[in-house]
Amino acid sequence: MLLEITDSDNVVAWSECVAGEYPNYSPETIDTAWPAIEQWIAPRLIGKNIDHTAIYDLLEQDIRGHEMAKASVEMGCWALFALRSRASLAQVLGGSRTDVAVGISLGIQASPEALVQRARAAYEQGYQKIKLKIMPGRDVEYVRAVRAALPDAHLMADANNAYHIADAEHLAKLDEFGLMMIEQPLDHTDIVQHATLQRRLRTPICLDESITSAERARDMIELGSGRIINIKPGRVGGFTSSIRIHDLTHQFGIPVWCGGMLESGVGRAYNVALASLPNFTMPGDLSPSARYWERDIVQPEWTMSAQGMVRVPRDVAGIGVEVDIDRIDDLTVRQATCTA
Ligand code: MG
Repeated sequence: MLLEITDSDNVVAWSECVAGEYPNYSPETIDTAWPAIEQWIAPRLIGKNIDHTAIYDLLEQDIRGHEMAKASVEMGCWALFALRSRASLAQVLGGSRTDVAVGISLGIQASPEALVQRARAAYEQGYQKIKLKIMPGRDVEYVRAVRAALPDAHLMADANNAYHIADAEHLAKLDEFGLMMIEQPLDHTDIVQHATLQRRLRTPICLDESITSAERARDMIELGSGRIINIKPGRVGGFTSSIRIHDLTHQFGIPVWCGGMLESGVGRAYNVALASLPNFTMPGDLSPSARYWERDIVQPEWTMSAQGMVRVPRDVAGIGVEVDIDRIDDLTVRQATCTA
C-alpha cells in the first residue's frame, strides 16, 4: 500500500505501508491498515500543524497496535519535513553513512544443495551478509552445507519463531558454524524464554518480531534475551520509535541492522535512509530492485555495487528517488482519499 501525503503548500511525499496480505509476520495486513489509516490515524493529523517528531507519541496515546499503518503515515511526514527543509531523508534522520552494506535473505530450499547454490550466487554477487531461513528439519544440515561451501562468508540464520525452548540443545548445534547471529528462534512475542536460550547459545540471538517498541528493546537488554536487533521501521511504528531503539542500543553496545518487508523502491528509500545512522553497523536486508521487481516503481531503481553496498541519496531532497506515477496508476487496484 502506497500513501501520497500532501501538505497545505502542496508539497507531496510518497510512503509505503509494509503490512502483508496475510497476518503471518505480524497481526497487521493491508486490510487492517486500510481502515486504521482512514478511520483513526489520518483524521488525527489532517489539517493540523504537528511536528513530525511528535506524531509517534500522539498516535500511541490512544491507538493500540497498528504499528505498520501508523509508520506509513509517520514516516511520510518525515519525508515531507525533509522536502520542506530541502534536505535528504538521511540528513533529517541524522544519518552519517554515504553507503550502506547489503545482506540477502534466502528462503527455505528443498535441499541443502539447492541452498548452497543460492548462497554461492549471493556471495559472488557481493552480498555482505547471507541470511539462511531455517525451520525444524531444515536447519543444521543446511547451514553445515553452506558453511562448508563458503568458509569465509558472513552467515546468519533466521528461524521466524519456528522453535520452542525445548529445542535449545538442538539449536546449540548451530554454534559450531560461526554464525553472526540466529534471528528470532522462539515465539513472536517472547522476550523471557529467549533470555534462557541466549544463556545456552554462544551464537548471538537477534530479535525481530518481538521488538515492537523501544520499551521491548529495553526489556531485551535488561533480560539478556538477545545481543542484536533487526529494526524494521514499519514493525515499530515509524522513525521516531526506530531512532529511540537505535539510540538505546547504541548506548548499550548492541548493534542493529535494518530488515526488509519486501518493500517496493519507495519503502526501500526509507530503510536505506534509516540504515545510514551510526549504530546500523551490520548489513541490512536492502536488496536492489532487480531482486524482487521486474520493474520497480521508482527512478532510479535501487542498485548494489559489486562490493555489496547501496548508496545513500544525500544530494536530493526527500526520499531520494522519483516515483513513477504512470506505473503506479497501471498497478492500482484500490484507492481512497482522506481529506479534512
Ligand atoms: Mg526475521
